[in-house]
Amino acid sequence: MKSLKKVDSAIYSLIKKEEGRQKDVLEMIPSENYASLAVMEALGSVLTNKYSEGYAKKRYYQGNAVIDEVEILAEERAKKLFGVAHVNVQPYSGSPANTAVYFALLEPFKDKIMGLSLAYGGHLTHGSPVSFSGKYFPVVSYTLDKNGMLDYDEIERLALKEKPKIIVCGFTAYPRIIDFKRFGKIADKIGAYLLADISHITGLVVSGAHPSPVPYVHIIMTTTHKTLRGPRGAMLMVTEKGLKKDPELGNKIDKAVFPGLQGGPHDNQTAAIAVALREAQGKLFKEYGKQIIKNAKALASALIKHNFNLVSGGTDNHLILIDLTNKKVNGAIVALALEVAGIVVNKNAVPNDKMPPFYPSGIRLGTPAITTRGMKEKEMLKIAKWMNEAISEVSGESLPEDKEVRKEFWKNFKKKVWANKKLSSIAKEVKTLCSKFRTP
Ligand SMILES: *Cc1c(COP(=O)(O)O)cnc(C)c1O
Repeated sequence: MKSLKKVDSAIYSLIKKEEGRQKDVLEMIPSENYASLAVMEALGSVLTNKYSEGYAKKRYYQGNAVIDEVEILAEERAKKLFGVAHVNVQPYSGSPANTAVYFALLEPFKDKIMGLSLAYGGHLTHGSPVSFSGKYFPVVSYTLDKNGMLDYDEIERLALKEKPKIIVCGFTAYPRIIDFKRFGKIADKIGAYLLADISHITGLVVSGAHPSPVPYVHIIMTTTHKTLRGPRGAMLMVTEKGLKKDPELGNKIDKAVFPGLQGGPHDNQTAAIAVALREAQGKLFKEYGKQIIKNAKALASALIKHNFNLVSGGTDNHLILIDLTNKKVNGAIVALALEVAGIVVNKNAVPNDKMPPFYPSGIRLGTPAITTRGMKEKEMLKIAKWMNEAISEVSGESLPEDKEVRKEFWKNFKKKVWANKKLSSIAKEVKTLCSKFRTP
């Protein structure tokens, strides 16, 4: 980054600082990963200079012969990798991609979206009242049973009663296998479109480590920067089943993305997605997907041995949701303590959470990024031990009820936690471990 260093030393040194942080800590936010250098080179290429409104061979601007080839290559690779009939690689990110699906198929203020409630692990765009999806469309939310599992009979009952036009399956904080076949049957019973939002688990699906939704759903949305390990971005895919239900489905979605919602596609992002798709074709990626799950399972059983209460009792995929109630501390405090100890996770609501979203009862963590670095089961045992030690440091701490008092308390509390000697000694051990596992 010689030119950047010369032109803008402030941004250069911030990037270097962040690079150092990403190397020295255990990145365990389950939606994060390390993109390869090849992906980043494509992302940082001259393709960022081009305007390409429209689709391949039907552009509104001249000079797109090369870009057409790039976009077609990305589409063809996705079609082959997932086994789908139609692909759109232009959505800027996951949220705009879901928006495009709703705009393609629903009439605002009339047609219903049915999705998992945000508080139970659905995404904002699955009908949360604070998102456009809940503001512009009527929403039916389903939840989880008392064990934190999807209750398919209840989902079916709700679908039959409410007749949503679209059902969304696929989540941001669900640690178990999703029964896409059952969702398919429910959607078919009421003639609804079924959208599988597999943003979190795409890498697991393409490596065969999680069942594919392709035979059972009409539309698939995935982000490209999570377990797929590409650049930030998203893809919309239509299955054979989707085209059978609605031969215009691909066209409707394409039109909703452009010109419905977006202008020019980010061609550099498209190229980087194509690179990630190529990387995901290989045998190494299959092993990667399987190792993500082996690591998550090893970490889950080690945490259970340390008396952690895992929502649903464990995990089938890349992520773990911990209910901290028995540890007598909330997720916000724990996430802070773990960050100080070099273990980066996020606070998260647990099913039936009694606490507000800003300091919920749980944390969410996952293994995609540390598995990219080459960590295996042995390292998971160490991580569980460190987590247990770090959380003991803050067990019993709580936040004042009063909002104003809490603000002041939190400021001082943060200082205190950052000064904690035990936590910084764990951070040193974490750093030593991390130095043995390369990032791209
Ligand atoms: C991450 C995610 C999204 C949104 O992705 P952004 O790129 O952050 O907009 C949508 N749905 C699910 C299930 C996700 O996990």
